[in-house]
Amino acid sequence: EGFNAAVAAAKPLNAFIVETPEKALAAADAVDAKRAKSEPLGLMGGVPIGMKDLFCTEGVQSTAASHILEGFVPQYESTVSAKLWAAGAGMLGKLNMDQFAMGSSNETSFFGNVISPWRRNDGGNTDLAPGGSSGGSSTAVSARIAPAATGTDTGGSIRQPAAFTGICGIKPTYGRCSRWGVVAFASSLDQAGPMARTVQDCAIMLEAMAGFDPKDATSLDNPVPHWEGALSGDLKGKRIGIPREYRMEGIDPEIDKSWEAGKAWLRDAGAEIVDISLPHTKYALPAYYIIAPAEASSNLARYDGVRYGLRDLPEGAGLQDMYAATRAAGFGPEVKRRIMIGTYVLSAGFYDAYYTQAQKVRTLIARDFGRAWGECDLILAPTAPSAAFGLGEKSDDPIAMYLNDVFAVPASLAGLPAMSVPAGLNGQGLPLGLQIIGKPLDEQSVLDAGLAIE
Ligand code: GLN
Repeated sequence: EGFNAAVAAAKPLNAFIVETPEKALAAADAVDAKRAKSEPLGLMGGVPIGMKDLFCTEGVQSTAASHILEGFVPQYESTVSAKLWAAGAGMLGKLNMDQFAMGSSNETSFFGNVISPWRRNDGGNTDLAPGGSSGGSSTAVSARIAPAATGTDTGGSIRQPAAFTGICGIKPTYGRCSRWGVVAFASSLDQAGPMARTVQDCAIMLEAMAGFDPKDATSLDNPVPHWEGALSGDLKGKRIGIPREYRMEGIDPEIDKSWEAGKAWLRDAGAEIVDISLPHTKYALPAYYIIAPAEASSNLARYDGVRYGLRDLPEGAGLQDMYAATRAAGFGPEVKRRIMIGTYVLSAGFYDAYYTQAQKVRTLIARDFGRAWGECDLILAPTAPSAAFGLGEKSDDPIAMYLNDVFAVPASLAGLPAMSVPAGLNGQGLPLGLQIIGKPLDEQSVLDAGLAIE
């Protein structure tokens, strides 16, 4: 009953695409049975979670919030979701998101936008964006509908929605969580991670999600640490780098204020604050918006009307007509924009000027971080340049929308672990997030610093 009530409460926010409270209940029953037999309950025993609709779930429609995958019911389970069920978690449902994870506001979903549970304290009634692309996840957790949810982060899609809704979310090192069974957006960047109310919950859930998977060629064969057990808010001896290039023009002064507060909190926890430079920062966003669409255009070629979901076969049409009709009807405008950008930058004649160049920039950005680790152990920065914006405010202006990812994409291009933690409210009563970026595989320090801030 509690689960059904929770799912019903979510309705007006449109956080779920599919509801599966029976699965969450089954996990609760399984915990009771284990308890009766004095068996271990598992890391996530009985915890009802939301699953971003980018994850394939066996027997449950998985659409990536697109029309082209509507009705697609996978016969297999993604590795990450399988691990969560093995750890005892139960699925409340499939969560709304930006279509194919392309977006920063959850407004590109075929199933309608998600509404953040937050309101400005100005007495107005503006519906706010929950962030994206994991907007169903951020909303389900911040509205207290689910204690935790999965997210995926290609260029900020765990961190930015977490910041917009006052929750925690960590994108681990690229390769920590298997991409197998996760609908691909940009494979060299895509990484799954937990979104939850607290750093501690994220640490527990990440342990359940991570681990080597031979089915993912870029999966890391490293042991999964017991992060939660080792959590400590004591940062004595840690040097926290403040990248001067992140001090950009046009940033909300309140973001700056929360950044200052973050420094003070980390100093109180024993850390030393140091000034660092990441000189190629300003090229990260343009490089990301070449590389991510290029990979997307290749990954999305599989949606041809033959193998998955939607098929639009006009009377008397041939194969090419079917491809064209299916894609025209099945992909939303933002997805089409990405495919066109991606095929353009990969085309003969433009490949070297755009794609090769962007790959070189990506290397320079990774080297910036590599050098910075000589001077600091962690980096502190804002998660996003503003608090949550209103629904509709940026949806007609793709560039304005892309600019919102400015602080998120560098860590994605470098494959580094990065977390957003709540850092208080702005003058309008909206949550602000701070981002902690760590060295490869050092999620522990990222979580520890998160604990000192939250
Ligand atoms: N907002 C970014 C984009 O639209 C990031 C999305 C993501 O991380 N999945 O590409």
